[in-house]
Amino acid sequence: MDTQRDQSAAPAAAPATWRVLLRYMRPSWRWLALGGLLNLTTGAVGLTLPLVARRLIDDLGADRPLTGVLLLMGLLVVVTAGVGPLGEWVLRRTGESIVLTARRRLVSHLLRLRVPALDRAEPGDLMSRVTSDTILLRQVTTDSVIGIVTGSLTVLATATLMGLLDPVLLVVTLGVLVLAGTLIRVVMPRVGRMSKDAQKSVGAMGAALERALGALRTIKASGAEHREEAAVHRSAEESWRASVRAGKWLAIAGHTAELALQVAFFVVLSVGGSRVASGAIDVGTLIAFLMYVFFLVPPLQQLIGAAGQYQVGAAAVARITEAERLPAEPVAPAATLPASGAAPAELEFRDVHFRYGPELPPVHHGISFRVPARGMTAFVGPSGAGKTTVFSLIERFYEPASGSILIDGGDIATWDIPRLRAAIGYVEQDAPVLSGSLRDNLLLGAPEATGEEIERVLRVARLDALVARLPEGLDTLVGHRGTRLSGGERQRVAIARALLRRPRLLLLDEATSQLDAVNEAALRDTIAEIARTTTVLVVAHRLSTVTLADRIVVMDAGVVRAVGTHEELVGADPLYAELAATQFLAASAVTA
Ligand code: ADP
Ligand code: MG
Repeated sequence: MDTQRDQSAAPAAAPATWRVLLRYMRPSWRWLALGGLLNLTTGAVGLTLPLVARRLIDDLGADRPLTGVLLLMGLLVVVTAGVGPLGEWVLRRTGESIVLTARRRLVSHLLRLRVPALDRAEPGDLMSRVTSDTILLRQVTTDSVIGIVTGSLTVLATATLMGLLDPVLLVVTLGVLVLAGTLIRVVMPRVGRMSKDAQKSVGAMGAALERALGALRTIKASGAEHREEAAVHRSAEESWRASVRAGKWLAIAGHTAELALQVAFFVVLSVGGSRVASGAIDVGTLIAFLMYVFFLVPPLQQLIGAAGQYQVGAAAVARITEAERLPAEPVAPAATLPASGAAPAELEFRDVHFRYGPELPPVHHGISFRVPARGMTAFVGPSGAGKTTVFSLIERFYEPASGSILIDGGDIATWDIPRLRAAIGYVEQDAPVLSGSLRDNLLLGAPEATGEEIERVLRVARLDALVARLPEGLDTLVGHRGTRLSGGERQRVAIARALLRRPRLLLLDEATSQLDAVNEAALRDTIAEIARTTTVLVVAHRLSTVTLADRIVVMDAGVVRAVGTHEELVGADPLYAELAATQFLAASAVTA
């Protein structure tokens, strides 16, 4: 609940990789078991081939008819051809479902991140966790985990059969393999470390790319394309370097098994040859045993590959879990908007202290003011005084360190956040417009609004002429962050969007700063009109807007200096008098 507490609480240790994997795999365990079983069947069928071969050699030696043994071989081939692909498909499908589940979970979480967590995050990096890291989950849950299970079982079964053929030769083979295994165990942790670096660089690349593409106009205007390009290239190269290194260790590990088995082949051939000579085993058994030695290559390579993939997957799991553990707002049912005509809100700040982070200086040093229901309250003060922060606290994007904010006498800290936000219409300082159509933007906060209501807010926000002029009207696409609109048009879209919510409390943060004089004057009157039925808070720099307000709150460096009307304040508060004389007028001159 409390941001300050969130920030100071020591994070609990991240769960172990296998626990996370189990959580993802549990819902699909039936499919995973089926896929694993089909895989095992293919393996088991393959395992019988040497025995069939021995039978063939025996039959040939004894001059018996071959029909039986040939039929058996045909059957085995048919079974392998059918079961092999089916097993693989089942596992693939399951893996993709796990990716889907992981993506849905992560997206649901990310869209509810608390604003302080969002302030510290890089959207591009978070995006790469949804798009890229989750893909690795498929490999680790299906190929890797199933590979480890089926690979070990196949090795075990093969070893058992080898032991049945000749225990002495089995011991010889295992001796060689244990040596190889020790080497591989040294290599695997390196693969894990390198994979983590590689995925981290992919995240850094996403962040660098998002930064560049998100502000490409600014970058062009600053002539900074090369430098941004170099930054993205650098993270791409770092990912390449780390992956190549991981690949090197994986290649070494993978071929260690093959090499070890080749060595084992010659050792078994020599030891086995002498055992055949001494009559301990027959030639058929030795040949079957040697075949099994080579049969060990695929499952052992599968095991090593799976162990490598597990390391790669563990790196991705760590990044996904990290994102899932960022503090988020609790999931609540979608908020319903207040019915039209809902009572305007009464607002009070009581000795509110706030800072954006424990390491940052305080922004509010005990703010107190009261705003009755209805009417317009203007917040004025130099830039950095903490005006926008007042609005952020009302929306509960952040929680105060102490003090309370009350709406209609109730502390908003106890309100359900969606219910609180449903009561508020908020036009942010930089009037964000989302990509999509004008209509999408208007309906963002009021998806059920009727055509009539839309018409009304378009008129109120003086957007009707613009919409009428556009060939596609409300369906015109506005571009990323509304770049196809002018600054003043974006502000009017943001105002219309807020009004469509029929707010009980309307927050306008320099919402008309970019409008031309004619539109500004018209909207000023409209806002004054709205303030008759709604509680309106405005942060304004124009004297014309400020003088219309029923009361003015003068803020400076995180404190409320004075509250009053324009006439009262001009005489009583030197800062206000100065602002009125210089800044308001200058702002009007600059932006008019
Ligand atoms: P105003 O709107 O009055 O110009 P703000 O409320 O936006 O001022 O900011 C008050 C102070 O808080 C400024 O010093 C600003 O640098 C700081 N600040 C604003 N937003 C953040 C944030 N998300 N994280 C850290 N500091 C912030
Ligand atoms: Mg501001």
